Amino acid sequence: MINGKNIHKAYGKIQVLKGVDIHISRGEVVSIVGPSGSGKSTLLHILGTLDKADSGEVTMNGQDIQLLSSKKLAAFRNENIGFVFQFHHLLPEFSALENVCIPAWIGGRKKKQVEQRAKELLGILGVAHRMDNKPNELSGGEQQRVAVARALINQPSIVFADEPTGNLDTANAKELHDLIFDLRSKFEQTFLIVTHNEELAQLSDRVLQMKDGLIM
Ligand code: ADP
Ligand code: MG
Repeated sequence: MINGKNIHKAYGKIQVLKGVDIHISRGEVVSIVGPSGSGKSTLLHILGTLDKADSGEVTMNGQDIQLLSSKKLAAFRNENIGFVFQFHHLLPEFSALENVCIPAWIGGRKKKQVEQRAKELLGILGVAHRMDNKPNELSGGEQQRVAVARALINQPSIVFADEPTGNLDTANAKELHDLIFDLRSKFEQTFLIVTHNEELAQLSDRVLQMKDGLIM
């Protein structure tokens, strides 16, 4: 599903990625671990089309994403990629349900169908009863579940998660981990997750260790 070859990225004089090779197959849950500053988030942003590599190749579902114009790239990202970050980045003035629906509305899908699917997802994630609440009325664990539902609304090929449980207590982190693996069983959902959480890393199909801009 995703192939990255010899990815290089520098910020100014700092060489952050020094020739990363990575391959992720459909339905895999893969974790990236490694010390702070080793380039994990940079790699995730490049694979997720939020940032561009200086050199190297990135293909997703056979499409070379670096060849897409920025307009096409935005559409490609909206259709194919979901993101979950450490801090949920939900829009404060919208309800949980609206936050989940927005990426699909942006993608031009029908309002009723989108709402139906958003409600189903919130149900699967155990927060349907909170759908009319605004983010600041939800607990941290609930906010993160809504963020996961939002990442899934467009049925993306892959969900990229950067420290998704980094801001949660142990019990909420464990519940989110279980949900990730439920989603993989139910939808064959693919995940690439940067994490410091040992439990999550151990549950994953594969763990990639990053160090000094390379996967070891
Ligand atoms: P990790 O996620 O493993 O902690 P990052 O990918 O965030 O590492 O960062 C790797 C290195 O790149 C760090 O030294 C960081 O300061 C630098 N870096 C990341 N993003 C930028 C940026 N936008 N501009 C300049 N330097 C950056
Ligand atoms: Mg990071």
